[in-house]
Amino acid sequence: MTEILDTAHVDGFAAQLHGGVTRPTDPDYDEVRALYNAMIDKRPALIARCADVDDVVASVNFGREQGLEIAIRCGGHNGPGLGSVDNGLVIDLSGLKTITVDPDAKTAAIGGGCLFGDIDAATHEHGLATPGGIISTTGAGGLILGGGIGHLSRKCGLSIDNILGAQVVLADGSVVNANENENDDLYWALRGGGGNFGVVTQLTMRLHPVSMVVAGPMFWELERSADLLRWYREFILDAPEDLNGFFAFMSVPPAPLFPEELHLRKVAAIAWCWTGPEEGAADALAEARAQDGLLLDGVQTMPLPALQSAFDGIYPAGDQWYWRADFVETIPDEAIEKHVEWAEKMPTWKSTMHLYPIDGAARRLGPTDTPWGYRNANWGSVMAGVDSDPANVDAIGAWSRGYHEALHPYSAGGAYVNMMMEEGQDRVEASYGENYERLAKIKAKYDPANLFHVNQNIRPAS
Ligand SMILES: Cc1cc2nc3c(=O)[nH]c(=O)nc-3n(C[C@H](O)[C@H](O)[C@H](O)COP(=O)(O)OP(=O)(O)OC[C@H]3O[C@@H](n4cnc5c(N)ncnc54)[C@H](O)[C@@H]3O)c2cc1C
Repeated sequence: MTEILDTAHVDGFAAQLHGGVTRPTDPDYDEVRALYNAMIDKRPALIARCADVDDVVASVNFGREQGLEIAIRCGGHNGPGLGSVDNGLVIDLSGLKTITVDPDAKTAAIGGGCLFGDIDAATHEHGLATPGGIISTTGAGGLILGGGIGHLSRKCGLSIDNILGAQVVLADGSVVNANENENDDLYWALRGGGGNFGVVTQLTMRLHPVSMVVAGPMFWELERSADLLRWYREFILDAPEDLNGFFAFMSVPPAPLFPEELHLRKVAAIAWCWTGPEEGAADALAEARAQDGLLLDGVQTMPLPALQSAFDGIYPAGDQWYWRADFVETIPDEAIEKHVEWAEKMPTWKSTMHLYPIDGAARRLGPTDTPWGYRNANWGSVMAGVDSDPANVDAIGAWSRGYHEALHPYSAGGAYVNMMMEEGQDRVEASYGENYERLAKIKAKYDPANLFHVNQNIRPAS
């Protein structure tokens, strides 16, 4: 524990919690503080393992009164490690995992510490789903509050488009609701503003009748990727909203699921998800199957949770990650040339580039309806350098930065805040665009002292 904290104060705080407190002297401290991205090594003074809303209130009050920096942690997946803080207090929400599904209303109330796999499991029992991400171990708190892009984006919109309400512990320790009728400014800000406005202890999410999907990857020879990308950029924007397909450069994982002769081969890929009637999938994917250079067609009927966890085995916690991202409206030929050049240079087999479609239902809201300022964008791109070996940190970072610098001139300006590293205030402002000023005013109302600043920070308007 840092010297700034008095042991008696900490003991008093710990005694108040229904969960517990982990301190640097505890044997499980290293395990509890570990983040998904092993490149980030933060040593908090205290980790409050909250079991309920009262614990969160006590933690916010304790952190504020003790002048500690506060980080809010759900799944711990954040790229730059914004779910933790050196020498500060981590409010760990992993004990807040209650999920209540109302199948008739098609809503789910989810605890602020749920992982996406928890939500998928609970909603799938009722043949329902809410849009999430592509890895089931990602925290719903961070993913949903920052935006939420995934296999259902074209069909059901972003995750934020499906938030119906939230329960929030504010910087002054009060507990409020935010929805269309209560604190509507806060409700607006939460739908993309991340953890800037308070600790979200519960979210009410809209559910959609999505249960079985026809889904999986198709791989093409990397040499054919320019033609493939030229076809894809037109095809996906005209495709029915029941079809999602994110484009990727990747290496075939060395897993038994894939033919051994393809293992570790660099490929262009599209990960498909068809949510329409099963018999319509063949037609929807016929044009894709006709593209030259197809190496593998892994599309099959599966439950949605199987798709949403399909990448889990490739990307366990503990790898090194370095991200760069952009919003993309069009993919001109020159950009395609650069994509191909950088795909060939992927430094490790886990490194990847994804172009996630965010058209369809995700474009239905206007640019100021939520803080997500890029409703004009058709894709969110991400260049993720990934490897299990810390010796490759420089190589994956250099590739990700170089790729991004080459493609950024063809982008729409900002990026998805959940797929950025800590890239400075200008980048955060660019990502919210015209909505930043409104967010800053709402921040000044709900968190004037910027207590919650360990995030992609929205500074309170002065
Ligand atoms: C392997 C991997 C795959 C990913 N795939 C996708 C994807 O498919 N789609 C997508 O959209 N994103 C994806 N992401 C990005 C992901 O959305 C962000 O990393 C997000 O920050 C993770 O949320 P978390 O709760 O796990 O993070 P944490 O590190 O726990 O928290 C990150 C930040 O979120 C905020 N936060 C979290 N929970 C709360 C809460 N309850 N109340 C208030 N603030 C909170 C805090 O500001 C915190 O600093 C992926 C990330 C990884 C590492």
